[in-house]
Amino acid sequence: MGSKQAKIRLDWEAPVVAEAQVLVIGGGPAGIGAAVGAARAGARTVLVEQYGFLGGAATAAMVGPFMTSFSGTGEEQIIGGVFDELVRRMEAMGGAIHPAKVRAGSPEAGFYIFGHDHVTPFDSEALKIGAAEMAVESGVALYLHTRFIAPLLDGNRIRGAIVHNKSGLQALTAEVVVDCTGDADVAALAGVPVVKGRSRNGLMQPMTMFFRVGNVDDEAVEAYVREHPEEHNHLFRAIVLAHQDTFPAPREHIGIYRTPQRGTWRVNCSRLSGLDGTNARDLTQGEVEGRKQVWALVEFFRAHLPGFANATLLDTGAQVGVRETRHIVGDYTLTADDLATGRHFPDVIALGGFPVDIHPVTGKGGGIATALEMGLRTAPVYEIPYRSLVPKGIEQLLVAGRALSATHEAAGAVRVMPSCVAMGQAAGVAGAIATAEEIPVRETPVARLQQTLREQKAILSVK
Ligand SMILES: Cc1cc2nc3c(=O)[nH]c(=O)nc-3n(C[C@H](O)[C@H](O)[C@H](O)COP(=O)(O)OP(=O)(O)OC[C@H]3O[C@@H](n4cnc5c(N)ncnc54)[C@H](O)[C@@H]3O)c2cc1C
Repeated sequence: MGSKQAKIRLDWEAPVVAEAQVLVIGGGPAGIGAAVGAARAGARTVLVEQYGFLGGAATAAMVGPFMTSFSGTGEEQIIGGVFDELVRRMEAMGGAIHPAKVRAGSPEAGFYIFGHDHVTPFDSEALKIGAAEMAVESGVALYLHTRFIAPLLDGNRIRGAIVHNKSGLQALTAEVVVDCTGDADVAALAGVPVVKGRSRNGLMQPMTMFFRVGNVDDEAVEAYVREHPEEHNHLFRAIVLAHQDTFPAPREHIGIYRTPQRGTWRVNCSRLSGLDGTNARDLTQGEVEGRKQVWALVEFFRAHLPGFANATLLDTGAQVGVRETRHIVGDYTLTADDLATGRHFPDVIALGGFPVDIHPVTGKGGGIATALEMGLRTAPVYEIPYRSLVPKGIEQLLVAGRALSATHEAAGAVRVMPSCVAMGQAAGVAGAIATAEEIPVRETPVARLQQTLREQKAILSVK
């Protein structure tokens, strides 16, 4: 293919099929929070999602468990609201275990000690059902199988979006748009300044193809961990290092998490470095290589891991897991120092307690341990400000979830799913308030936003 690309100009019409007050694009953790939050705050809300189900990485990429929704000391729950309600709903279905009952070092926490206290194991199918029920019951109009194509712009103000689905091209108008695509697709196309990955070289966290294995002998795995307490934060390290020449992924240990079903574990172990999740060719490569790694990993597990002799590959994610792509440049950029010092923000809209978890952009090391080696520690409780969801340059647009305005390092902590639901909820509520008060969403009164969030059971401060 030559470097000069041919271009074709299109002139198509799209019928206006909905006039939303708050239009949420992307139905992952942030989008679920945003849509439910906006609808419950009284806004006519539309949620657009490209897949046939909600959940984002948690369903489409099979990522889990939900990382901690508790403070770093494990003493108190600091993420409530839509997230907690969703978990309780799934638990009532038999599809999750509430984080209050899950402790660090347990099989559900992948036997990790650091950063893994009070995680939430869940069944992705329960999430698909629970999230859709919550959205519909809250009055959200769902547009599934619908892909965002382009923003509707009026100068520097966004007024809705063009989407595509089986019905063809459609237009959705809105007072406020909340971009929850994870990749800041809406913001980037609208002209918001964005950055990718690390500030010094733009490298992004690697992708991972998650998979689930069944027919695992849980007792044998637990017995191995009891005999190898030194492997709590890097399970099966000795076995992987002993077979480095044949191990199918550039990793030094294996991340496995028991799901609510006995004998069934999620695996976070494949690694695809140097790819950009906003580039279709890179994504294609990630899908192809990711599944190849998975097949070889399952063969390795059967041959070498205690408890896995009869394990079967149940499924891979419908899409490769993309940890990081664009971050918007917002009115405030959250930094690692903010998280380390637990800086108080007058416009706090969510708390977090999960440490920085940066899978190395090159090499074989891993996550939280690597971040700690880089000196990236976090306070037991840190705050996320509203201004980090407000992009520069475009009016009536908010961005929630992993694409918020944060440095690579800070995003390495706040990208986890409970934080994304909480950010989304705040953005949705802000959109509803701004619409009702007929004010720019950038100027949403903070006190009113915080009060409504508290009424929706969000937690904005600790005792
Ligand atoms: C490999 C991996 C492991 C991880 N491990 C964990 C973990 O164990 N625990 C944890 O809590 N977090 C984990 N994370 C982080 C977490 O999963 C994500 O950061 C989080 O899901 C981001 O939420 P989000 O709503 O911003 O984006 P996403 O979850 O990516 O959701 C975005 C949604 O938008 C939709 N969308 C995107 N573009 C369009 C479009 N153009 N039109 C329509 N819809 C669109 C997508 O289909 C998706 O549903 C992991 C992430 C990865 C990739």
